[in-house]
Amino acid sequence: MNGKVVVITGGTSGIGEVAALELAKMGARIVLIARDASRADATLVRLRNAAPNLVHSAFLADLSRLAEMKRVAAQIADQEPRIDVLVNNAGAIFAARQLTEDALERTFALNHMSYFVLTLALRERLLAAKAARIVNTASAAHHGAAFDLDDVRSTKGLGGMKAYRCSKLCNILFTRELARRLRGTGVTANCLHPGFVATRFGDQSGGMLSRLVWVAKLFAISPDEGAQTIVYLASSPEAAKITGQYFHKCRPAIPSAAAQDDRSARELWRRSADLAGMNA
Ligand code: NAD
Repeated sequence: MNGKVVVITGGTSGIGEVAALELAKMGARIVLIARDASRADATLVRLRNAAPNLVHSAFLADLSRLAEMKRVAAQIADQEPRIDVLVNNAGAIFAARQLTEDALERTFALNHMSYFVLTLALRERLLAAKAARIVNTASAAHHGAAFDLDDVRSTKGLGGMKAYRCSKLCNILFTRELARRLRGTGVTANCLHPGFVATRFGDQSGGMLSRLVWVAKLFAISPDEGAQTIVYLASSPEAAKITGQYFHKCRPAIPSAAAQDDRSARELWRRSADLAGMNA
C-alpha cells in the first residue's frame, strides 16, 4: 500500500477506524470523511502515531445530506489528483423514521446515497489511479429485505430495522451495477459483511433498538476482527482482479436472490442518479 491514497467514510469509529489504521501501517495515506471534528482529530492523532511519515487528512461532512456529499467530494477531488482506494463505510440504524432536508428517508440517504454520490463524484480520480478499488460495507442484514423501487423516497413509512435492511440490500445492488459499469477500466468494486461487531453501531439509534443492539453486542466480534475483510479487499494482491462480489471473512459469499437481481441493480442506479441530480 506504499504511496497509495485511501479515502474512507466512517473512519473515525468502529471497523472503519481499525481499517484506516491498518492500511496506514501498510504505507497508505488516509483521507478521512468524518462528521464529528473532535473524533476526526482523535483518529488523525492515532493515524500519525501509527504511520508518522505520512500526511493524513480529514474532511468534515454530514453524509446524510446530498449537498454535503457533493461538497466534500469536490473538496477531495481538488486536493487529490488520484485515489487508489475508496472505502464507503459510514452507516447507521435509526429507531424512528426521519426524513432528511432532501426529503429522503435518513437511513437510505446515509447508507446508500452517500456511497452512490461519493463514488460518482470521485470517479475520475479513481480512474486516474488505473487499478483503483472501491470497497462498500454492506451487511448480512440485507437477507430477507425487499426494496420497493417505485418508492425509493420511502413515502410508505419505512423506518427502523426494515429501512436498515433495505439500505444494505442497496449496497450490494449498487456494487453489482458499479462493477458492471467499470468493467474494462481496471477499477474494481466489491462489498462485504463484516460480521456482527461490537462498535458504536446502534448506540445512537434511540428507543428499544439501542437496548436490543447493546445486548446483542455482548456476543459480537471485535472491531479488529470486523475490519479484516475491508483491509483484505482494499489491499490484498489476491483480491486485485475480483469485482462485483459480496465477501464475508475475506471470502466471496452468496448474497440473497434479491441482491443478485441485475434488473433491480440497474433500476436502483437510474433512480439514485435522478435523486442525486447526477449524470451517470
Ligand atoms: P460505528 O457506529 O462505530 O461507525 C459508523 C461510522 O459512520 C462512524 O464513524 C460515524 O461517524 C459515521 N457516520 C454515521 N453517520 C454519519 C453521517 N451522517 N455523516 C458522516 N459519517 C457518519 O459502526 P460500525 O459498526 O463501525 O459501522 C460501519 C459500517 O458497518 C456501517 O455501514 C454498518 O452498517 C456496517 N455494519 C456493521 C455491523 C456491526 O455489527 N457493527 C454489521 C454489519 C454491517
